[in-house]
Amino acid sequence: MPLNSLISEAGSLKKSPLKATASNTAVPKRKQLLRASIAHYPNSKPDNKSADERSCESLYQRFYERSYKENIEIFTDGALVIEDSIIRDIGDYATVVQKYPDAAISDYSGKWILPGLIDSHLHYPQTQSIANYGEQLLSWLENYTFPAEMAFADEEHAKNIAKVFINQLLRNGTTTGFVFTTVHASSCQALFSAASDINMAIVAGKVCMDRNCPAQLQDTPELAQRESADLIDQWHNKGRNKYALTPRFAPTSSDAQLAALGELATQYKDVFIQTHLSENRDEIAWVNSLFPHADGYLDVYDKHHLVRERSVFGHGIHLNQDEWVRLGEANATLAFCPTSNLFLGSGLFNMEQAKANNVHVALATDVGAGTTFNMFKTYGDAYKVSQLRDVPISPFEGFYLMTQGAAAAHQLDDEIGNLNPNTTADFIIVEPRFDELTALRISENAAFEDVFFALSILGDDRMIEQTWISGQCCYNKKENQHALA
Ligand SMILES: [Zn+2]
Repeated sequence: MPLNSLISEAGSLKKSPLKATASNTAVPKRKQLLRASIAHYPNSKPDNKSADERSCESLYQRFYERSYKENIEIFTDGALVIEDSIIRDIGDYATVVQKYPDAAISDYSGKWILPGLIDSHLHYPQTQSIANYGEQLLSWLENYTFPAEMAFADEEHAKNIAKVFINQLLRNGTTTGFVFTTVHASSCQALFSAASDINMAIVAGKVCMDRNCPAQLQDTPELAQRESADLIDQWHNKGRNKYALTPRFAPTSSDAQLAALGELATQYKDVFIQTHLSENRDEIAWVNSLFPHADGYLDVYDKHHLVRERSVFGHGIHLNQDEWVRLGEANATLAFCPTSNLFLGSGLFNMEQAKANNVHVALATDVGAGTTFNMFKTYGDAYKVSQLRDVPISPFEGFYLMTQGAAAAHQLDDEIGNLNPNTTADFIIVEPRFDELTALRISENAAFEDVFFALSILGDDRMIEQTWISGQCCYNKKENQHALA
């Protein structure tokens, strides 16, 4: 077959229908080989640090920088081989192409193939309330978030926003999100259902709140437990879906509700837990007054068995030393949401403390308080936050925190976060020189870290050329098509 037809076949959305559903996910049986520059972290953690390095903070910082630089795998002229929904091979083009003489070749030279990006904390019902003026956390919730979430009592509205939300993820290169829905179980159903249509790995949960919010958004301890359990039975580990127990945050849950969710956490060891923690000083004072018997904010959750591996806490801006130590011991994860922290004036995340206490960190947008769906731009703001703290986060580390680092923290790195053989084929194709300015700034043979950094400052959804999920192209910028029409 002539090369041109092979190329158009593999890359074309017309021949690989966008409307991928459980019944028509048939992909070409033939292997597909994509040629481009490729970067990923094949391993889940940087090298073990020596005792010397651990004992000295500046050495520790240097250890991390060196380790991120050394552990990334880059193929300047690379090849990625996929078959059905699975990655089969990765390497230098010249070597790999020999091994697969029958593969359909798509040539994306000049572009970068990267693992699909992971957004570890965001709210799909807030898609419509992004970019509202002038509030900090508690009045933001009251004035914008709660009214927006009330609209999700209408199932049609939930279905419509779920589509818009997933399309926004796709056009920004995000292939997995850790998503808060609303108190309505049907809003969670709508999101899982839309993600399932394209075999997207989504982690989500029904928000639980039984006080300190409008009556229309309240459940009860019993209802929260029953509906969460039903959703776990229906969706957790079904297809690529994963469930997260999702109390919004301590102020909107009674002790009885947190206890009810803690029972589920104990019963279902591999479900995720997602909530918010120590985002804002007024919030922390409120938590202290609501839970006088707890030893601080984190302890409110800890008393109810909600602090453990696969617990993902949004923010953690104002933690005390005991809380840092406890998060590290528990193998829990903090979702660092820089655009949201700046937008709501919450504060500057302390990455050095996270490292010193071995706390997993994953980058996240926190849309709608976050100001973009784009994870590159999210790292751009993480870099600015870290500059204000005088300890800049390198582009290597930023890339790690939205791919393999996040996947490893969530114990999902055998499926997502990297481009290793036998993982699921979730990846993106990035066009670095997508407009006049980026073509001027980024040279054709620029190193990965320069491309990634420049795009983190200058980029937006225009740099994402294609987003592939489970071996299917689900978004193609050229054809302006999304999987979910
Ligand atoms: Zn949030």
